[in-house]
This record gives sequence, C-alpha cells and structure tokens, in this order.
Amino acid sequence: MKYTVTLIPGDGIGLEVSLAAKRCIEATGVLIQWEEFIAGEAAIKKYGKPLPDEVIESVKKNKVAIKGPIVTPVGTGFRSVNVELRHALDLYACLRPARSMEGVPSAFKNVDLVIVRENSEDLYMGIEFQEGSGQAKKVIDTVNALSLKKIRPDSGISIKPISRFASRRIVKFAFEYALKNNRKKVTAVHKANIMKHTDGLFLEVAREVAGEYAGRIEFNDAIVDNLSMQLVTKPQNFDVLVLPNLYGDIISDLCAGLIGGLGVAPGANIGDGIALFEPVHGSAPKYTGMNKVNPTATILSGVLMLKYLGEEKAAAKLEAAVKDIIKEGKFVTYDLKIDRNDPSAVSTSAMADAIIKRMK
Ligand code: NAD
Repeated sequence: MKYTVTLIPGDGIGLEVSLAAKRCIEATGVLIQWEEFIAGEAAIKKYGKPLPDEVIESVKKNKVAIKGPIVTPVGTGFRSVNVELRHALDLYACLRPARSMEGVPSAFKNVDLVIVRENSEDLYMGIEFQEGSGQAKKVIDTVNALSLKKIRPDSGISIKPISRFASRRIVKFAFEYALKNNRKKVTAVHKANIMKHTDGLFLEVAREVAGEYAGRIEFNDAIVDNLSMQLVTKPQNFDVLVLPNLYGDIISDLCAGLIGGLGVAPGANIGDGIALFEPVHGSAPKYTGMNKVNPTATILSGVLMLKYLGEEKAAAKLEAAVKDIIKEGKFVTYDLKIDRNDPSAVSTSAMADAIIKRMK
C-alpha cells in the first residue's frame, strides 16, 4: 500500500457518502490502506466517549484522514466531535472551494470562490458558562466590575477569543494559498465596526499580512453582513475569502447555496503537515439510511485529499468523472434534478457506481 489514511465514516448520511467516496478513491488506482474508526454517538456506546483517543492517534500517525459528518446534539449533550478533532489536531485552516459545475441547478453561474475559515478559536472554542451556574456568576461579576455595560444575571456566556497569533496564521495561509493557486485577491471578512477588540484585531493583522504580499495579491476587506448581501448579488466580485471561525461556518453554507447546495460542497481541515478532509454538510438525519443523498461533496473532498497526497493525475481523473456525470445529468441524486421529485434520480451508491464506471 502506498498510503495509510484514517477513515471516519461518521453517522447519519455519513456512512453512505463516506462509503461512496472510499469506493471512488479506490477506483482511481491509488493504493490506500484504510484505518477505519467510529466516532460520535456510536463511539459513546462502545468506548464511553464520542471521540476515542485511538482516532486522534491514528490521524496523528497517518497525517491524512477523511471523514463523513457526525451528529452534534443541539443545545445539550456532548460537544461537537468535528470541532474537537480540529482542535486536538490543530487543523487551523478550513479550506472550502465553492465552484459552479455545469449541470448543477443553481441561480448563479461562474461562481469560483475559496473560503479560508479559521478553525481554532473564536466562539467555537467552547468556552461557555451555563446560565445560573456558579461559574457564570463569577464571570458576570468580574465583567460587570470591569465594564460600564452590565450583563444580566440570568445570562449564559460564550467567550469569543481572537488572537494575533491565530489571525496571522490563517491570513498568511490564505495569501499563500492564493499565490500557489493563481488567485488574484484575498478579502478579509469581519464585523470590526462592532467588535473592535476581536474582529478589529483580526482586520488589523490581515492588513499587516496583506502588506507582505503587496503587488502580488490584491487585498480588501468586507463587513460580514454586507458581504452576505454582495455574495448573493454579485459573487463574481470575490475570490479568496478569509474569515474568523463562526463567520466562516455561516458563509461556507451560503457559498454552498450559490453553487447549487450542500450536496456539492467539499472541504479540508489543514494544519502543519496534517490534514483531514470532509464535506461542508452535516449528517442530514432525516435522510439517514435512505441511500438518497448526494455523495459529490465527500467524493470531491476525496479529490482534495488526492491532490494533497500529490496524486494529481488520480485527482484529475476522479474530478473529471464527477463533473462528467453531473453535466450529463442521468445518474445523479434528487438534489441535482431541476424537479427534486424527478423519479429518474438515482441513489447515492448508484451515482458513485456511475462515477467509477466513467473513470474506466
Ligand atoms: P446538514 O448539512 O446535515 O443538512 C441540512 C440539509 O441540507 C439536509 O436536510 C439536506 O436537505 C441538505 N443536504 C445536506 N447534505 C446533503 C447531501 N449530501 N445531499 C443532498 N442534500 C444534502 O445540516 P443540519 O441538518 O443543520 O445538521 C445535521 C447534523 O449534522 C447536526 O447534528 C449538526 O451538528 C451536524 N453537522 C456536522 C458537520 C460535520 O460533521 N462536519 C457539519 C455540519 C453539521
């Protein structure tokens, strides 16, 4: 075997889309030995925790992983396994290309954006204090003593740290990506008019880093609400977007919408010498076990993985087959049909079969 890759199929639709992606990646001919692990709800039953140490150790050893989405309970229950993995492995950059593909029903054409989302801090750090708890009271009392503004005593608290270190690291990543991939412009996205000491710092650092690339890559900035409006009116005005964690999450889904939906939006979480590939979408619980959803986002995450491994030819072959099948429109899932109830839509596995056949 040429590579050992950690595979975390995930849950919900994760099992189906991961299997489809695994089969497509294997069909490129690249020899991969898979180390497969469960995580999330199923891991709690087996190991007593949602993210077993073995999973983290495997990715640390293999340096490359691919995963399907994993359910995160809303409001209560265990913390996001997806976020924990990114933190535990210091996968600080989330890279999400959003490119229009011929044949995907969408209100927009010629969208070609790259989202670079900071993955390690911001409101996603999980530093939270429950309403009514002793810790929340302490935090509220401390802040109320330090600030002229008073937090209500019955508040829950989430902390939003934005550091100079992480901002510099992610903005530099975005500029380096732009240079290596012949992109023209980087836009830093923020809400620095309101959050002067967090987003304001992010913007200040972004401007500093942009100076180091002057004359090579253009730079501008945009306030996140205004950016959202501009993206849904003239997405062609943007190129590479670099954003703090939470805005990156939201804008990723918005950009997925611009290119035809979550079914076609791939992603990668990248650290120094280590990477984990996964689709933008979640586990879409209502479709679990139906063999119905679109495997494209996970298969294209596999294309990103093959490129990362230096398997450019295999990546190009798989990407071309995916594009071909989608353009043809015959062997595609329901979400790629103009009428979502079109009875000619095929299953997740049948779409993967067609892609594999097209590569031969
Ligand atoms: P979701 O992305 O799972 O699904 C939202 C909707 O998008 C679905 O109902 C479906 O209509 C559509 N969709 C998603 N993937 C699709 C596909 N491959 N093909 C066709 N249509 C698709 O978002 P959600 O419902 O908000 O989240 C469900 C669960 O997933 C939650 O527990 C959430 O925390 C988790 N989640 C996990 C990840 C991850 O593992 N990285 C990311 C996002 C959400």
